[in-house]
Amino acid sequence: MAILRIVKDGDPMLRKVSRPVEEITPRILTLLDDMTETMHKANGCGLAAVQVGVLRRVVVIEDGDGRLYELINPRIVAYAGEQEECEGCLSIPGVWGITRRPSAVTVRALDRNGNEVEYTGHGLLARAFCHELDHLDGKLFTDCMIRRVRADEVETE
Ligand code: ZN
Repeated sequence: MAILRIVKDGDPMLRKVSRPVEEITPRILTLLDDMTETMHKANGCGLAAVQVGVLRRVVVIEDGDGRLYELINPRIVAYAGEQEECEGCLSIPGVWGITRRPSAVTVRALDRNGNEVEYTGHGLLARAFCHELDHLDGKLFTDCMIRRVRADEVETE
């Protein structure tokens, strides 16, 4: 596994739309492993492939209980409710802000074996699904930020 360089805000790469994965090759599996390692090293809870310079629809997320979600070609199939919580992004270091997201989000994706999987996330996981899937369409959380939060206001878990 390898730690990959994280693309930072201001790089035009982050505004590009990622392409679907046509075939789950060993290269995609290595990408998933490297993305997870990179996310851990950076103390993040989610990472999209575009953030490591790969324009493919691949996302990794780790929830508050340490469960890892590997999502290939994910899409949101249902959402409900609303939440306004604080968000940050490994590509935008030092910036946190409040966004409005659904409070429950269901995604469908392929796992690393090519099987279709479906997950419903609430709270933090729902936000992570929205945030990471936005990356695949070139969107950043600062696009929908309601207000910025100072670093010393951010709650640490
Ligand atoms: Zn992000």
